[in-house]
Amino acid sequence: MALLIGLVAVVVGVGLLVWLMTGWMRRRGLKTPGTSDVVVRCDQGHLFTTIWVPAISFKAVRLGMARYQHCPVGKHWSKVRPVPIDQLSDAERQEAARVHDIHIP
Ligand SMILES: [Zn+2]
Repeated sequence: MALLIGLVAVVVGVGLLVWLMTGWMRRRGLKTPGTSDVVVRCDQGHLFTTIWVPAISFKAVRLGMARYQHCPVGKHWSKVRPVPIDQLSDAERQEAARVHDIHIP
């Protein structure tokens, strides 16, 4: 019984963390509305779209608000950071929308 209660507490805690972080990212303009997508920029300046679920990542090494993952534009591994959508020009938004990496968080 204690194991079940502990498991439920962990699931509720992770769910709450994901909900809070998603809201924080949305308020900062980092989330594409209505999706789990985020525009990111790698260390070499490439822009692309990726799925970004706070506290959950299977394709990247988490580094706080950055991640180390494969850049599908330059085809290299790099640290990537979310970019606020309102800080991108129309051309940059189109550039990021053209390339979406694999569809897992
Ligand atoms: Zn790159």
